[in-house]
Amino acid sequence: MNLNLANPLWVPVKALLCRTSRRRRIFTATAINSLTEKVNNDENELLVVVGGGAAGVYGAIRAKTLSPDLRVLVIEKGRFLSKVKISGGGRCNVTNGHCTDTIRLAENYPRGNKELKGSFFFTHGPADTMSWFSEHGVPLKVEDDGRVFPVSDNSASVVDCLLNEANIRGVRVEKGKSVLTASTKPDGKFHIKVGKRSADTFESIEASYLLIATGSSQQPPNLVILSSIPVPSLFTFKISDPLLAELAGISFSKVQAKLKLETSRPDLSNLVQIGPMLVTHWGLSGPVILRLSAWGARHLFTSEYKGLLIVDFIPDINIETAKSILKQHKLQFSKHKVANTFPPQFGLVNRFWRYILDREGSSRDTLWASLSNNSLSSISDLLKHCTFQVTGKGQYKDEFVTAGGVPLSEISLKTMESKLVPNLFFAGEVLNVDGVTGGFNFQNAWSGGYIAGTHIGKLASNRSSTETKVIGLL
Ligand SMILES: Cc1cc2nc3c(=O)[nH]c(=O)nc-3n(C[C@H](O)[C@H](O)[C@H](O)COP(=O)(O)OP(=O)(O)OC[C@H]3O[C@@H](n4cnc5c(N)ncnc54)[C@H](O)[C@@H]3O)c2cc1C
Repeated sequence: MNLNLANPLWVPVKALLCRTSRRRRIFTATAINSLTEKVNNDENELLVVVGGGAAGVYGAIRAKTLSPDLRVLVIEKGRFLSKVKISGGGRCNVTNGHCTDTIRLAENYPRGNKELKGSFFFTHGPADTMSWFSEHGVPLKVEDDGRVFPVSDNSASVVDCLLNEANIRGVRVEKGKSVLTASTKPDGKFHIKVGKRSADTFESIEASYLLIATGSSQQPPNLVILSSIPVPSLFTFKISDPLLAELAGISFSKVQAKLKLETSRPDLSNLVQIGPMLVTHWGLSGPVILRLSAWGARHLFTSEYKGLLIVDFIPDINIETAKSILKQHKLQFSKHKVANTFPPQFGLVNRFWRYILDREGSSRDTLWASLSNNSLSSISDLLKHCTFQVTGKGQYKDEFVTAGGVPLSEISLKTMESKLVPNLFFAGEVLNVDGVTGGFNFQNAWSGGYIAGTHIGKLASNRSSTETKVIGLL
């Protein structure tokens, strides 16, 4: 059976048919090379892990730890743990230390929030991840906002730790080669073709277990088959407003921001977020915006990243109170220019107050005494419902993920095994799971890799002990 799963790795049967005959000819003419020889000439069972990212390497280590006799081979088309290396601005935000409750933790995943409420994080959650790294020589620290980083503030500590542990356990790593296709054989094993995309030759491997941990990597376009197209998540908003651009660098500790898109359903309550926001040269960023981009990822994609953002800059003050605060201020500072003084209760910086005055149309030189009641009302309105046209998406350099991938309905989250094909496992971003910023995306990779590795390790140990018993009886 050809695996025709909802995953970019799998080759649609049609595509396979057009390519197989030529490939087979080339393959038989090509000398069997080193990788094939090394992995196929061994009696012990083999686990092939596709993708040497966080999920793949963590899963490989776990499987090999539980079942030392199992041969484990991780195939990576590029560099091992390359995203870990660049993550968190080079510091690697390993996980999040504030969510100890697994149900609350799952709420940080726009895709996966319902499904991950079960056993997933209970089996291996942030506390387990933190213990694992601490026990393996990477001391961690929890920052005020819950993000967890290595004490070294250097992602290389995490990369080195994982590669070192894989090496100690005897996990075999092969880089610079892609897994091109995989298919199941009648005996239940996997037939895997490995090679360089550019070359026309490939190597052939047989494995008992297959763990797909390919992240969000694009696969060759003519081979792509997807159940849900991956779209970007975790990005900033482009806002075309020259006056706003002048405020670049200003941050707000707490705003409420609501995203309105033509395509969004009215019941999408998560398109309202509260938290810090930052003005950048091209628009708006900060946790509130990143969370909106994650929850609205699919709708923003279909709206071509155009929509309306309504920001409440004083979420703890209602509009009537805001008006009376302004009236009080007018009485108290009637002889002062509006640009020079404003109510401190709003917690705003002077540059932003002037921006509000400009948008309202009040001259900066106006005296407070001359501000009409209408102007006071419009200023309150602007502070409570300031609208911005979102015209596109910007880049958030510290973290980026995609929404989409293998549907969770096809996976058992207790084992990470496919419900469609036995001994086939998935972990990490290849699944239709993505989290908001703050270490949640790596946590998905660690948890999934650990659960898959645990199950594969147990299966392999059980099989080898059964085989030993049978041989003993003969
Ligand atoms: C710039 C940046 C910063 C980030 N910072 C953070 C952060 O601080 N905290 C956080 O929680 N998350 C962060 N993320 C998100 C996080 O990196 C991912 O969620 C995580 O790496 C997913 O792990 P993974 O193992 O599933 O996939 P990946 O890390 O993407 O690994 C998949 C690997 O599979 C390989 N591969 C793909 N196809 C094949 C094939 N056919 N054959 C062989 N190999 C293949 C790829 O080359 C890749 O190395 C960041 C992401 C980016 C881009």
